[in-house]
Amino acid sequence: MHCPFCSADDTKVIDSRLGAGAHQVRRRRECLACHERFTTFETAELVMPRVIKRDGIRVPFDEVKLRGGIMRALEKRPVPAEKVEQAINKIQSTLRATGEREIGSGMIGELVMDALKGLDKVAYIRFASVYRSFEDVKEFGEAIARLED
Ligand SMILES: [Zn+2]
Repeated sequence: MHCPFCSADDTKVIDSRLGAGAHQVRRRRECLACHERFTTFETAELVMPRVIKRDGIRVPFDEVKLRGGIMRALEKRPVPAEKVEQAINKIQSTLRATGEREIGSGMIGELVMDALKGLDKVAYIRFASVYRSFEDVKEFGEAIARLED
């Protein structure tokens, strides 16, 4: 770590503490050459796996798209924003926790359906009917029957 004041490369850490949400470490450093002090932040790199679409194309994970799909399903439903955020965070940490570099888009769809099932049944049916594009009434009926278990 070079000193931002004089560019010397000898700096020492004089204090170290957890920062925002404990995902960040904040360090106070002092330059051994000019004795200026400065702060650095260290954050773990949280890498999301890439997404393999149904046609085999690989795309970067897109949080905006995930959120959009969930919000569309939840439109005009009585679900607090905080719960929606928790569900989105949980889906993303589950994906990261796989440790995979690439995951099928189907896995994301299943995670969203699980999350919606816990949040709001109408939203679940909306999402499932678009996502699974139910081909017949029977399939749709089965999804509803599973809800009632
Ligand atoms: Zn310096």
